[in-house]
Formats: sequence, C-alpha cells, structure tokens
Amino acid sequence: MKYAELAELYHVLESTSKRLVKTRAIAEMLAKAPSLELPCLMLLLQGRIFPAWSEEKIGVAAKLVMKAIALAVGRSPEDIEKDWKKTGDLGVTVQQLMGKKRQSTLFSESLSIEKVFNNIQKLATATGEGSVDRKVKLIAELLTSATPLEAKYIVRSVLEDLRVGVGEAALRDAIVWAFFGKQLHLKLNEEKLQLDFGESSREKYNEIVDIVQHAYDLNTDFAEVAKVAKEEGLEGLKKIGLRVGTPIQVMLFTKAADIKDAFEMVGSPAAIEYKYDGFRVQIHKDHDKVTVYTRRLENVTAQFNELKDIVLKHVKADEAILDAEAVGMDAEHKKYLPFQTVSQRIKRKYDIEKMAEKFPVEINVFDVLQYNGKNLLAEPFGDRRAVLIKIIKPLGGKIVSAQQFVTSDLKQAEKFYKEALGVGIEGVMVKSLTAPYQPGKRVGYGAKVKPTMENLDLVIVGAEWGTGKRAGWFSSFSLACQDEDGNFLPIGKVGTGFNEKEDESEEGVTFDEMTRLLKPLILEEKGREVGVKPKIVIEVSYEEIQKSPSYSSGYALRFPRIVRLRDDKPVSEIASLKDVELLFKQQK
Ligand code: AMP
Repeated sequence: MKYAELAELYHVLESTSKRLVKTRAIAEMLAKAPSLELPCLMLLLQGRIFPAWSEEKIGVAAKLVMKAIALAVGRSPEDIEKDWKKTGDLGVTVQQLMGKKRQSTLFSESLSIEKVFNNIQKLATATGEGSVDRKVKLIAELLTSATPLEAKYIVRSVLEDLRVGVGEAALRDAIVWAFFGKQLHLKLNEEKLQLDFGESSREKYNEIVDIVQHAYDLNTDFAEVAKVAKEEGLEGLKKIGLRVGTPIQVMLFTKAADIKDAFEMVGSPAAIEYKYDGFRVQIHKDHDKVTVYTRRLENVTAQFNELKDIVLKHVKADEAILDAEAVGMDAEHKKYLPFQTVSQRIKRKYDIEKMAEKFPVEINVFDVLQYNGKNLLAEPFGDRRAVLIKIIKPLGGKIVSAQQFVTSDLKQAEKFYKEALGVGIEGVMVKSLTAPYQPGKRVGYGAKVKPTMENLDLVIVGAEWGTGKRAGWFSSFSLACQDEDGNFLPIGKVGTGFNEKEDESEEGVTFDEMTRLLKPLILEEKGREVGVKPKIVIEVSYEEIQKSPSYSSGYALRFPRIVRLRDDKPVSEIASLKDVELLFKQQK
C-alpha cells in the first residue's frame, strides 16, 4: 500500500474531533489493507513501531531529525531549528519547507507503508559507531521520496508524537466496522452522525465490540487483533488467550468515599486489603523464566533481577501470572519506604545490583490470573485468592500475599481500615469476592478508600525556564488532564513541592531532575516557555479545584504541589476531565 494513503488518513484524523468520523476513516483503510500489511498499518496508526510492551523503542531526538530534514531539503540545521521555533512542530516545519522545495523537483518515488515502517524500525536497532549518521540517512532517505504531507507524518512518527488524536476505543471500533460491519449491516447515518443497524442490533454490535476489546486486553497488541479479526473472524479472536510472558491490561479500581460506600459498590461480604504504596508489577513465571512488567506494560525484568530467584523459590507453580504491588523496604528497620525510592529502580540501566541492595522491595501479591496453564480471569476473586494462598510460600520482606480480611460487618471493616492507617498504610481496597478479573477497565469490582483528598495524576505539557538561583532549570510546569479522545487539556501550573538540591535520603523530585527529564521532550520554545511532548506523569496535590476560563479544561487547581513522579503510570491513565469534574462536585 502507498504511504500516501496513510498520510491522507492521518490528515483526516487530525482535521476532525468527531470520533465516528475518525472510526469510519480508519475502518475503510483497514478493510482494504492486505493481510500482510495490516500489522504495520495498525502500529503506524498508533504512532508506534513496536507493541507497547516491547523492550524496543525508536528513541530519536529532535536534533537528529533536524539534521535529516536539513539534508533532505538542502538547508542548514540552524535554519530548520529557527523555523521549528515558529511552528512548534517539526512535522509542520518539514511540510512547509518541502512545499517550497517541491516546485523544483519534477517527480518523486512513491513511498510504501512497508518502506516507511522498515526504515523507522531500523532507527531503533541502529547502535554503536556511526549509528547517528546511519539514522540521519534513514530518515532523509524517506523524506526525499516523500510529498510534503507524507514528510509531515514521517517526522512526527519518528519523534513518536503523531498528534492525530486516535484513542484505543476508535481503533477497536474501526476493527469491528472493517471486518464485521457487513455481518452487522452497519451503516453510518451521515446527517445525524450515528450508527444505523438495519436488520441487526446495537446489542449484537456491542457483543462484537466486547470480543475485540477482550482480545486486545489479553494480548495488548492491536496489530495482532486486526490480523486475526480479518483472517479468522470472531472464533479466532475468542481463541486469543492469556500467554505467559505477554503482559495483559491490568484491572483498575474505582474510588469510594468511605468504607460504607465501598461496601455498597462491591457487595457484601467483601474482602478488605491493605493498599500498599509501591508500584504495580505483573509477574510472569514460565517454568524457569521470570518476566516482570509495570502497569505501563514496560518490561522491567532486568531492573528487578533479584525477583527471579525469589519467584522461582517462593511461587509454587510451573506457570503463573501474578498481579502485585512492589513496595520499597527498609530491610533493617522492617519498614516500608516511600514510593519515590523504588521508582528510581524502574529507570535504572546501570548499577542494578547495587540499587537492588540499597532499595530492596517486598512483593505483595494480590491476584493471580493464570495458574499452570489455566486461565483464571473468569473465576470469582475468592477462588483466585485461594489459589494465590496455595502457591505463594511467603517470606517476609521478599514476597507475601496482600493482608486481607473478609467480612460483611461494617464495624469490623472500619476497624481493619483504622488499624491499617495506624500502621502507616495509605488506605484499603475493598473487593468483591465473586467478581471476575476484568482487564483494562475501571470497574466496580474493587474500590479504594483513602482518608485524604484524592491527588490527581496529570501529564506535563509545558515548562518555563527559571531565573535567578533557578536559572538553567525549568521551575514551573504546565499540567494537563485528558478528554475521552485522548486530547490533553491544560489545568494549571505547578512549581511547588520540588527540591532545590538532591537530598540525602533521595526522596522527592528536584528541579534538576525535572529539567533532565523534559529537555529531550521539547517541541517548541517561545521566550522562556517551552512546550513538551506529553510523556511525564506526575502526581499533584492541591487545596481545591476551581472553575477557570484560563485553561481549556475549564478548571484550575488551587495551590498545586508535586507529590511524586508517576513513572509507573502510562499517560493513558492520567486523570480524565470526568475525574476532575467529579472531584469538583464532590468537594462541595
Ligand atoms: P490508584 O493507583 O490510586 O488508582 O490505586 C490502585 C492501585 O493501588 C493499583 O493499581 C495497585 O498498584 C495499588 N494497590 C496496592 N495494594 C493493592 C491491593 N491490595 N489490591 C489492588 N491494588 C493495590
């Protein structure tokens, strides 16, 4: 297939905010894509080359892309940078510059989707001597055969910043429309922009949507889901199962105001568990192989190398998938440590062993999803917990099952909650004993109860260079939540709660660290302000949420303060506008 068709599709996606229009455009493209190209197409549509959980990343900085553009359009990198400062988008910059250059070029080769995919893939694997030059050439090669519109999206794809606003829901629905639309008699009512089912029904449609969603939840790979949908239909999708070694979307929980509220949500009797303040890990044991993923589905096996022995010795199963919270431990004093200390281990590439010694973790297992080849997702939580107790050979400070108490008595439950807070636990999870494990969704099968006003997890979309003693650092950060289509909506700025200097206990976040994290993500610069790729998630506390016309979310935070970096949380899980609205209402 020609890349021109995909570029045209990106253009349509970027020009509308209507989900149905986006879905239809994607579906039409998927329907005509040959099987072999479907996986590449699906990944490119997500602005990816590898599935989310792959260890491989493109990892190309804006500087390198500027060199490639310079080469392709015959200008100096400085010129490109100057223009970039004006547009704030290297994609637009290259599009404009190529537009001018094109007039003198008579014809261009037409690019295929495969060619673009392959060249970008090579960027990820090019390492060692001369790799920078090779990367520049790979990008420039694509740009010289591209039209201005194609160039725009090639550059954005390379930078992993597609900006076309396609969420998981649109991709999922597009797969349904493309491969099951006929069988569903699906039509789009152009005038009303709504779905028309003719002889079929909304129920039937929803059923198929659920099957596609479930397949994705289990393999977290749209490329494979689309291919199976096309080639093997619904039966094939139903066969996509859990695989030890491939991460699945984790179940998410709702919030409850208090224990009573939580009981009403999940039913009684309920299981009440400590809510450990660490970071979530999904542990896959496949005989003598152990793989560890974060909830972002990042592979952190190497960073937590010491877990291998522990899991091999203390999980009595040939195969198992466990859902757990890894909590930093002060081994000497048998105390839990703040999240921040462990989170450093996620990022580490060097001195992994030293870090493991300095910041050991205790694994608190709270669920089991697969045991010796048996998929347990549909089993009631009470039964899954029984399996968990059977297979975990606990060893304090290394691996234990989550503290749990089952009761239907509200008073007893409240007592357990108070005692938990008393020993320094941040809250409790109240869980239904009869519920299945529902991957990827925020369902009411479990609710968290915490005493403090809920903090918000937000993404940084901009920053401002500091002055005076903070010169050389970013000192203020623009925050955004997201709407249902994954658009980022600014909600305020935070500059409080950061440390000036690296402190001894290594807790807290410094301006220096923030600056190091954000510098490679800069997209545009205007005076002291910069716009950055929305990648860094932070947890923010605040006094109050206020209505505000100054920010496009319509809200602003009063006295926001950083609590910590949430490098374990994917950007897709930051607070939604709905969350903000709900909290705004609740505070009244
Ligand atoms: P939150 O991140 O505030 O939405 O709270 C849910 C998170 O609490 C989960 O994603 C887990 O990382 C963590 N957690 C800690 N203890 C438990 C537990 N016993 N059961 C489930 N999740 C837990």
